Amino acid sequence: MKAFLIDLTKCVGCHDCQIGCKDEHCDQAWMPYAEAEPEVGQFWLKLKQFERGGGSHVRVTYMPTLCNHCENAPCMAAAKDGAVYRRDDGLVIIDPVKSKGQRAIMEACPYHCIYWNDALDIPQKCTGCAHLLDDVDSPIRVPRCVDNCHVDVILFGEESDLDLEGTEVLHPEYGTKPRVFYRGLPKKFIAATVYDPEAKEIVEGAKVTAFSDEGTFTTETNSWGDFCLDGLPEADWKLTVEKDGKTLVMDVSTRTKDQGLPDLALA
Ligand code: SF4
Ligand code: SF4
Repeated sequence: MKAFLIDLTKCVGCHDCQIGCKDEHCDQAWMPYAEAEPEVGQFWLKLKQFERGGGSHVRVTYMPTLCNHCENAPCMAAAKDGAVYRRDDGLVIIDPVKSKGQRAIMEACPYHCIYWNDALDIPQKCTGCAHLLDDVDSPIRVPRCVDNCHVDVILFGEESDLDLEGTEVLHPEYGTKPRVFYRGLPKKFIAATVYDPEAKEIVEGAKVTAFSDEGTFTTETNSWGDFCLDGLPEADWKLTVEKDGKTLVMDVSTRTKDQGLPDLALA
């Protein structure tokens, strides 16, 4: 069974994967797997961009997203007349003929990976470039997004050949068993700069601790007075900053967002 492995730690946000996907599918049909993708409004591979944190502690994360080719695919369950099927290699395909008029297929995808083609009255999505995989004469025998990525962020192959240790899937709680695996999915962070308002200096080597029901995380401020507690679960935290008998205590939540805090005065 085939799978995708996407390593977000290497992605530079160049959009070449998204452009390659559009180049492969716009204005050309690859029957029996897909009618042509409209030039606007659809991104069978979509590069999402997240700006996280705030103030002077901001990170940008890029994330290529596509159909997860789920083993328990809700789109397949919602389809009538076998309009969505799984190939022997695991790719989930929407039949462009049988799916005509079946909006329920699009509405069933919890990842919102399926688009509606108004002109053709059909749902459409990533095919895994099945037409390239099948064409023994093609110079490209992998999905175009994989071929277009110049830093090997997106890999595709037999699951047993991919190093999936430590990877995660999107929303495992949906129970869909995605076949797109991610390395480096962003976790929440708390970051700030600590300074001494009397000395008018940053504070190096302050101990920073975050407590919650989810655990205890500790770090120290560096030579610029900065700290970053990274990889935090989503929780409400009691944050303490301590050095030379001075202590700062505050409540910080990572339930809904990363926290790039204003500068913290350790008085
Ligand atoms: Fe279907 Fe959506 Fe899963 Fe793709 S990600 S197989 S479209 S349910
Ligand atoms: Fe990231 Fe590769 Fe896509 Fe560029 S082509 S945005 S590096 S996944």
